[in-house]
Amino acid sequence: MNAPGRPVAAFDADAIRAQFPILSRQVNGQPLAYLDSAASAQKPEAVIEAVADVWRSSYANVHRGLHTLANEATEAFEGARAKTARFLGAARPEQIVLTRGATEAINLVASALGQSINEGDEIILSQMEHHSNIVPWHFLRERRGAVIRWAPVTDDGSLDIEAYEALFTDRTKIVAVTHMSNVLGTVTPAKRLTEIAHARGVPILLDGSQAAVHGHVNVDEIGCDFYVCTGHKLYGPNACGALYAAGDWLDRLPPFMGGGEMIAEVSEDGVVYADAPHKFEAGTPAIADVIGMGAALDWLTAQDRAVIEAHEKALLNRATAGLMEIEGARVIGTTQGKGAILSFVIDGAHPHDLAQIMDKYGVAVRAGHHCAHPLMKRFGVTATVRASFAAYSNAADVDAFLSALRKARAFLI
Ligand SMILES: *Cc1c(COP(=O)(O)O)cnc(C)c1O
Repeated sequence: MNAPGRPVAAFDADAIRAQFPILSRQVNGQPLAYLDSAASAQKPEAVIEAVADVWRSSYANVHRGLHTLANEATEAFEGARAKTARFLGAARPEQIVLTRGATEAINLVASALGQSINEGDEIILSQMEHHSNIVPWHFLRERRGAVIRWAPVTDDGSLDIEAYEALFTDRTKIVAVTHMSNVLGTVTPAKRLTEIAHARGVPILLDGSQAAVHGHVNVDEIGCDFYVCTGHKLYGPNACGALYAAGDWLDRLPPFMGGGEMIAEVSEDGVVYADAPHKFEAGTPAIADVIGMGAALDWLTAQDRAVIEAHEKALLNRATAGLMEIEGARVIGTTQGKGAILSFVIDGAHPHDLAQIMDKYGVAVRAGHHCAHPLMKRFGVTATVRASFAAYSNAADVDAFLSALRKARAFLI
């Protein structure tokens, strides 16, 4: 086994796997086959240790302190911001707001931009968005009279680019689309979507909750205005994540939440805000978790990410091929170049029942609407089963999945 955080020379699935202690446990008397990484990834020893180390040896509140522990905590916390900037390809750490996840990051942008949204202004979303990238915009529909326009998804699960392009009008104020669907695995052409929006003078937010995990992201190269990601899907702790904003967006946007940490000065009749990004970081943040996210990004960037991506896709192909041999199986999302997420339905068997029975065999898959009601409607289903793969997944997981699925189907039909 490699030391935590050290790169593995050539890709060695077992060596990666050995760094994730939870994967060696049993579930219902069976070896665990964890295929729910798109909902949340497991954590390597390097991350667990980094978080524990904060609690054990350098914990204090950040930013305000004049004592050594506070300074150490602040340095590590700000270090995580710098790591996040580097991970996303942002030029400066000040372009990164540390949030409680992708959800908060999107709410921040919607709320801040929302103050200049008026009745009849338009917001473009896609049909494959996660509820996190729908509901904050519905707030603007309800509260400010904004109109949401939906970029359609084709039968294979791609974004219909021509239809997307046709949605722009002189009322379009913002585009918010995913960079990778958490249901279909579809990777959207982020740069092209950005160019189309910018050609019409419209800013664009990309939801990178999944994309940042499975491929190399460079926000500078994409050229987007906003990019969000979330720590717990990146092999880091939960309740931490990041918003990247290009150029001077963070200086121009009004603050989101009010409280400590985000001010320069408060008096009885006024408030002077701190400079960005702190202006957007009210209250005590998830200090140890953010530092743990930094450790997760270190861990991930120390791996050969192209090799991991190829490994995940090989597992996806193995699972898809096996699934196609099962009678009545239908894959939702079959687009070329999709990421390692496999959503499907089986004729005559409810996804929830399948997942519950598979759990008896130690196989963890998700069943449900995956926080994507509009997408479920688009494909005429109410739920799917979803198996999702990560760096630590292996062929034995796929085989356990296929075997459990066959048994579950046989039981139900
Ligand atoms: C998980 C996910 C989110 C929400 O992330 P949180 O960590 O719950 O804030 C948003 N969008 C997509 C595509 C996701 O997969």
